[in-house]
Amino acid sequence: MARQAMTLIGGGPVGALLAQLLAKRGFAVTVFEKRSDPRRIGFKRGRTINLAIAERGLQALRTAGLAERALQKSVMMRGRMVHPLGGEAGLQRYGVDDSEVIWSISRSGLNALLVDAAEEAGATFHFGQTLVSADIDEQCLSLIDREDVQRDYGAGLLIGADGAGSALRAAMDLYQPLGIRVEPLGHGYKELEIPPAADHRRFAIEPHALHIWPRGGYMSIATPNIAGSFNVTLFLPLHGPHPSFDTLRDAATASAFFGRDFPDLAPLMPRFADDYDGHPVGKLATLYLDRWHIDGRAVLVGDAAHAIAPFHGQGMNCGFEDTVVLAELLAGCGRDTAGAFAKFQQIRKPNADAIAAMTLENYVEMRDSVADPRYLAKLELSTRMTQWSPEYFMSRYRMVTFTLLPYAYAYERGRVQNQVLEQLLRDFPRAGDVPQDVAMSALQAALPPLPSLL
Ligand code: FAD
Repeated sequence: MARQAMTLIGGGPVGALLAQLLAKRGFAVTVFEKRSDPRRIGFKRGRTINLAIAERGLQALRTAGLAERALQKSVMMRGRMVHPLGGEAGLQRYGVDDSEVIWSISRSGLNALLVDAAEEAGATFHFGQTLVSADIDEQCLSLIDREDVQRDYGAGLLIGADGAGSALRAAMDLYQPLGIRVEPLGHGYKELEIPPAADHRRFAIEPHALHIWPRGGYMSIATPNIAGSFNVTLFLPLHGPHPSFDTLRDAATASAFFGRDFPDLAPLMPRFADDYDGHPVGKLATLYLDRWHIDGRAVLVGDAAHAIAPFHGQGMNCGFEDTVVLAELLAGCGRDTAGAFAKFQQIRKPNADAIAAMTLENYVEMRDSVADPRYLAKLELSTRMTQWSPEYFMSRYRMVTFTLLPYAYAYERGRVQNQVLEQLLRDFPRAGDVPQDVAMSALQAALPPLPSLL
């Protein structure tokens, strides 16, 4: 019997990983990607240069047999190194020890690895091919190449992995409205860089951390690259009073602001002016869809279905979880692809909605709370509760980042745990004063034990 044909639009991290998983399961996979081959050109400067991989992403890479190769290209990050204005920087660990860490990897390096692996599994990639429109009834694509030559392509099943601005999504929505809702955050980002220290091999600051300079309504972060540099991202409101991208239009105004608001960061960026003036301002938004598929003909995955802001470092991790679920459903559905796509949406959409909500909450936490005494008291009490009763208490951040518990479960359990913490800190203003037995009875009255994580 002929192998069933699957056509993917987009060979970014999610598309390339899905291509590998589907090809391994015997599907005839073709990928159209608008950019050039990432193995030959690298990525344009000014796009996010690296990404944090957490447990969900790692688990998907394990399924693909690629986790070790990805980890070899990554730098471990143990926690947030918080740089308060005028104070000492301090590490807030993400997990209990070094078994709970996240990994910083170059986007282009990861993408190249995934494309290689997908080709090894039998998928075919066509680079420099942009989808311009799609006839969903006929399952026919219209693509344009670098020389502006347009061609039509008779596709099999259509899978849109073409990111937040998905062209396949637009074509599907024209055919049958998907209920698209885009909620702009009103904030944007700009990418800068800390080069390696003078001898070109050492990191200029602690490498095994995600650095944060929280400043209330805005912040900078820095993540390490294996070559010794750091990718710095400035997050600011797009418009409005100072500071915003409106009031910091160029390097001349921004460098005075950096000198004042990020005095320990500014001197680490000798190419600040070129980077600031040369890199675009990225806009952040959350994308929600009521429907992710059109019967058994077309489906969306990753950012094309559920783009989120980057404040939990979970966008790609969530997209990677999608790929494993979708590949399994397609492999097990026979010819009932409509059933597989419907099940995929049923399983993944509540989880995508939950991580979108937690991401927005995490932004407030990162830019405002990490230096706030009340937040720090909650953090201290959370650490105590984890030690007292790991079967009942796990911080939401750990559930999201270091387990495979569904995002929707982590969201709901985190909400109840937070209520318990708040109540205890109302009764005992200092975390150190909360008696263990009182804390444990409050927790056990509110929640069942955590499910087994094995
Ligand atoms: P994309 O990465 O957008 O890939 C889509 C692909 O489709 C691209 O290669 C594109 O060229 C191609 N394409 C687009 N249109 C067409 C077309 N018409 N025809 C053909 N091809 C097309 N996530 C994490 O998990 N951890 C992080 O630390 C993290 N940090 C982030 C930091 C920032 C500042 C931002 C903005 C995002 C971050 N994310 C992070 C989110 C992550 O980048 C995305 O979730 C992830 O890239 C989604 O992968 P994707 O393959 O679905 O989409």
